[in-house]
Amino acid sequence: MNRLYDLVVMGGGSGGIASARRAASYGKKVLVVEKSRLGGTCVNVGCVPKKIMYAAADLAHSVEHDLPAYGFPNFNAGDVQWGLLKQRRDAYVERLNGIYARNLKNSGVDFMHGISTFGTDGKIEIDDKALEADVENVLIAVGGKPVMPEIPGIEHCINSDGFFELNERPKRVAVVGAGYIAVELAGVLHGLGSDTTIFCRKHGVLRSFDDMIQSVLHDAFQRDGIALQPNSSIARVDKDPTAGSLSITTTTGQVHDGFDCVLLATGRTPLTEGIKAIFNCQVFMKYLGLGLEHRGIEITRNGFIPVDEYQATTSKGVFALGDVVETAALTPVAIAAGRRLADRLFGGLVDAKVDYTNIPTVVFSHPPIGTIGLTEEQARKQYLAEEIKVYTSIFVNMHYSLYENPNDKPKTAMKLICVGPSQRIVGLHVIGRGADEMLQGFGVAIKMGACKRDFDACIAIHPTAAEEFVTMA
Ligand code: NDP
Repeated sequence: MNRLYDLVVMGGGSGGIASARRAASYGKKVLVVEKSRLGGTCVNVGCVPKKIMYAAADLAHSVEHDLPAYGFPNFNAGDVQWGLLKQRRDAYVERLNGIYARNLKNSGVDFMHGISTFGTDGKIEIDDKALEADVENVLIAVGGKPVMPEIPGIEHCINSDGFFELNERPKRVAVVGAGYIAVELAGVLHGLGSDTTIFCRKHGVLRSFDDMIQSVLHDAFQRDGIALQPNSSIARVDKDPTAGSLSITTTTGQVHDGFDCVLLATGRTPLTEGIKAIFNCQVFMKYLGLGLEHRGIEITRNGFIPVDEYQATTSKGVFALGDVVETAALTPVAIAAGRRLADRLFGGLVDAKVDYTNIPTVVFSHPPIGTIGLTEEQARKQYLAEEIKVYTSIFVNMHYSLYENPNDKPKTAMKLICVGPSQRIVGLHVIGRGADEMLQGFGVAIKMGACKRDFDACIAIHPTAAEEFVTMA
C-alpha cells in the first residue's frame, strides 16, 4: 500500500462532495467515488431540475392570469414547448455536473467513477476490486431512491426520476402520493397545462404540515383546478392495449381511466440494501449491497444507517449522512452535516455537529409553502394551552389586487406560534406568493431564539407580504 486516504466518500451527491472539499481544504487526501453523475439527487433528479420546472409553471401562471390583469390582454404565449424546456434544463444540469467535477479537481479531491462497497474484509472495493490504498475514514453518502409500491401494473408507472425523462408534456396525469414530491410535481404539471389529479390514501396532502397550510393549499388546488382524490389507495394500474391509456383501480374497486401518465411519489428509501448496477448497456443487471455487514453496521427496519449526533456509525472510522440516515432528507442538511464532519475530523473543531432543530423548509407548491418549527397541533401537545399564543393572518397579496374575479385571487396565510411569558416563537408557517424567498431570514431569527417582541420591534417593509409577520396583533 503506498497511498493513504484520510477520507473516502461513497457517493458524489451534495453531502459527500461538501464533506470531501472541506476535508481537502484542511490538506487531507480525499477520494470521492460515484456510480452516476456528480451532484446526486439534488442536482440531477431533484431540487435543481424541479426548480427550473417550477419556474416555468410560475411563468405560465403569470402569462395566463397576471399579464391580462396588468394590461397585457393580448399576450398569448401558447403552450409550453416541453421538449425545448427539457433540452435547456438538461443542458443546465450538465453544466452543473461539469462544475462539480471541476470543483473537486480544484480542491485537490481525487475522483473515481464506479460503485463503492465494503468487501468481505471490511475494506473499500470499487466495482468489486479492492482499492489499493490505506483508508483512515469512510463517509457513506449514497443517498436514496424513490419507493415503488409492489402493485400490479407498476411497470406502467413512472416516479420522480421518470418525470425528468419525459420528452413531452403528458395530457392527463395521475400523481399518487401526498408528500413534497407529489405536491410539487402536481403543481408543475398542472401549471404547464396537464390535466392533473392527485390520488392520496388519506384525507389530503402534506398531513405533517400545519392545518392552516393544508387547508389553504387544498383551497388553492380547488381554485386552480388540480383534482384531488382523497382516501384513494391505488391497487393496480392497467394499460388499455389498443388506446394505450392507463387506468387506476383503487382498493375500494373504483376505476379512474384515461390517463397517459401515472406518476408515483410515495416516498423515498435509502440506497443501503442494494443498488441496481447496469453493465454493458443494460445487457445484464446486478444488485449490489453496500456490504455494511462486513463492517458490522446494521441498518434499521426502514433501511437507514443509524448514526450518533456526530454522524458516526457503530463501526470506527465509518460515518454516514444525507438520505441514508434518518434525519430531514434535505440537501442543505446533508451539506451542513458533511462540512461539520470534516471540520471535526480534520479541522480541530472537536464538537462540530449539526443542530437539527428549527430547520426551515420550503415546498415549491403553487403557491409555495415555508415552515419552521412546530405545527400548532405539535405545540399543543408539547405545551399547556395557557402557555401558547397563536397569531394568524390571511390576506390577498397586493400582486393579485388587479385580478377582476375575486375568486381567482390566491390567498396568503401566515401563522406564528409563541410560547411562554416571553412568547418565544416555536413555529412559523406561511403559504403564499414569495413564501420561498421570505423564509430564510426568519429562519435565522428563530434560530437565534426570537420572541414575538423581537418581531414587533422590527420595522415593517411596506408594501410586502412578509411585513405581515412583524405586524401581527
Ligand atoms: P414524503 O415522505 O414527503 O411523502 C410521501 C408521502 O406519500 C407519505 O407521507 C404518504 O402520505 C404518501 N404515501 C406513502 N406510501 C403511499 C402509498 N402506497 N400510496 C399513496 N400514498 C403513499 O416523500 P417524498 O417522496 O414526497 O419526498 C421525500 C423527501 O424528500 C421529503 O420528505 C423531503 O424531505 C425531501 N424533499 C424536499 C423537497 C424540498 O425541500 N422542497 C422537495 C422534494 C423532496 P400519507 O401518509 O399522507 O398517505
